[in-house]
Amino acid sequence: MTALPLVFDAPRRGMPPRHLADLTREEARAAVTELGHPPFRADQLARHYYRGVTDPADMTDVPAAARGTLAEALLPGLLTVVRHQTADNGRTRKTLWRLHDGALVESVLMRYPDRATVCISSQAGCGMACPFCATGQAGLTRNLSAAEIIGQAVAAAAAMANGELDGGPGRLSNVVFMGMGEPLANYARVRKTLDALLTPAPHGLGLSQRSVTVSTVGLVPAIRRLTEEGRNVTLAVSLHAPDDELRDTLVPINTRWKVGEVVDAADAYAKKTGRRYSVEYALIRDINDQPFRADLLGKLLAGKLAHVNLIPLNPTPGSIWDASPLPAQREFVARLRAAGVATTVRDTRGQDIDGACGQLAASEDVGVPTVALPTPQLEPTVPLGAEADE
Ligand code: SF4
Repeated sequence: MTALPLVFDAPRRGMPPRHLADLTREEARAAVTELGHPPFRADQLARHYYRGVTDPADMTDVPAAARGTLAEALLPGLLTVVRHQTADNGRTRKTLWRLHDGALVESVLMRYPDRATVCISSQAGCGMACPFCATGQAGLTRNLSAAEIIGQAVAAAAAMANGELDGGPGRLSNVVFMGMGEPLANYARVRKTLDALLTPAPHGLGLSQRSVTVSTVGLVPAIRRLTEEGRNVTLAVSLHAPDDELRDTLVPINTRWKVGEVVDAADAYAKKTGRRYSVEYALIRDINDQPFRADLLGKLLAGKLAHVNLIPLNPTPGSIWDASPLPAQREFVARLRAAGVATTVRDTRGQDIDGACGQLAASEDVGVPTVALPTPQLEPTVPLGAEADE
């Protein structure tokens, strides 16, 4: 296994200019006032921004003479589309974005019959060094600003509203922080993003708490902080191993916070929110898919407000890691269910465009082999043996 160092402190270079989405409503109103305009212009700008309006000329309720100045000061373009790739008959779309300093990140929009989910990135790269993960192997470039994270969700909402995915116009209903990066390692900006996602118009997207999922590899102090701050979004914990011996190598953050501490923190979150948390577990052939590990996981989670989401490792050319074969998956599921633990196996949406979890490596070269797999994904789940897609 590749042993990269854990990186908690992101390089400070490259943060983008201030954007309206980085500000609270009060801060935005103050900023507009400083520019010599009445405070309510901030609400007008926010309404346009969260509706995906990017051309100042379309902001017709703002005086023409003020549009340019306000947009330049508060709505700088932060995300530039490098390319879109679609899969699943046009119902999945991966977008590669270039940031103002040239850093690249990806987001994936997935449409289902009953919902539309966007998987967003919170960091350029990731410092958590999981050896099976394409993003982790590339290291951490920098944290994204709140506006850079929010912008991915706003773009997805606009894409749905404009009918850019197969199936006509629709509404973005879910956001999962399962793209590039460890969200809780960029806590303050992710926290701001949650505010923007949950705040009703005009200063947010107005999503419900349960339809937003924050995924973490197990930064225990940050899970506890999230618990105290009471945003009550859904929590997903990427466990990938039930025992410290294996998890120390598979998920290096385990050398800092052990399996028991992570599960304790998730339990406290579930107790506070009353909401079941998700345990993400990438099933990797002959690494963590043995029957005894299923039993260990079952014992660890029996009786808890938890749900296991198994993710057969996404295949990646050139990687030594491989998905568990179907019989091993079935055995694993059966043992967990026998222990009374709710378990599903994840759908593999977007696999042919490297859009499945952990395949987000943000390269400009189409078809460049990414290393391997999963960050979590709570969303699309299907019972084992069912069709992998809806
Ligand atoms: S699996 Fe998640 S936490 Fe681990 S390196 Fe990849 S993106 Fe980072």
